[in-house]
Amino acid sequence: MIFEPGEQATLEGDAVFEGVGVHSGEPCVLRVFPAEADTGIVFRRGAASVRAEPGNVTDVSRGTTIGAGGATFVCVEHLLSALAGAGVDNAVCELDGPELPVLDGSAGPYVSSFGQVGVRAQGRERRCFSVKSLECFARKDAVMVASPSAEFEISYLLRYDSPVIGMSFRKFSCSKDSFGRDIAPARTFGLVSEAEALRSAGLAKGASEENVLVVYDDHVRPALRFSDEFVRHKLLDMLGDLALAGGAISGTVFGVATGHWANVEMARRLRKE
Ligand SMILES: [Zn+2]
Repeated sequence: MIFEPGEQATLEGDAVFEGVGVHSGEPCVLRVFPAEADTGIVFRRGAASVRAEPGNVTDVSRGTTIGAGGATFVCVEHLLSALAGAGVDNAVCELDGPELPVLDGSAGPYVSSFGQVGVRAQGRERRCFSVKSLECFARKDAVMVASPSAEFEISYLLRYDSPVIGMSFRKFSCSKDSFGRDIAPARTFGLVSEAEALRSAGLAKGASEENVLVVYDDHVRPALRFSDEFVRHKLLDMLGDLALAGGAISGTVFGVATGHWANVEMARRLRKE
């Protein structure tokens, strides 16, 4: 994982992903190429290129969107999470449209593809960002707390006004857990009661039970991969957004009912050190 100190790394070769955008419903092709040390993760379409960093985040309402100079890249967080989990610091991600493919709603397909392509060290240390003192910020019922620690650990408390989701808590640490096994397969989710509002706002056009866990009043479809798949997905998103900091992190980060806005704010605060 890029969150631990060590040498920077990139992919050994190219990886290609085809799918649809969960919001646009449009087909899209994403190509991920190796890149030189200190490149970071750069998104490219035509002549436009945007580096994945907190200052380039333009929207956090439904997924994390980065953009600059008129080019936007929507829903970058699952790819960023997979790259971070695979230990990839440097890559160029070329996309033929505005939105990344949702694939199966998790980071699993990215992780298995990067595993096949392989990752190579680049002989240069990655930057490291530390939580220097206790930090806390809140918005309505959502609270995010960061505290100093030699290791990187994140945790999340999910509270949802749905009997199917309810409340759950989970931690992730690089030393104790496996990103590929424990986090990457967890899919995104949505309440069926919110789907209509999203569709009338022109969103979720590509959403289906192929790529989203659909939560009804008393059940979820399709079947869960983990009994606590919802909170695992929140950790997946948090890792992807924290990767915007662009390096290793020493510190613990705890989110209570937080979303992309809080994760991106934390990445921004880490970089300011
Ligand atoms: Zn997500």
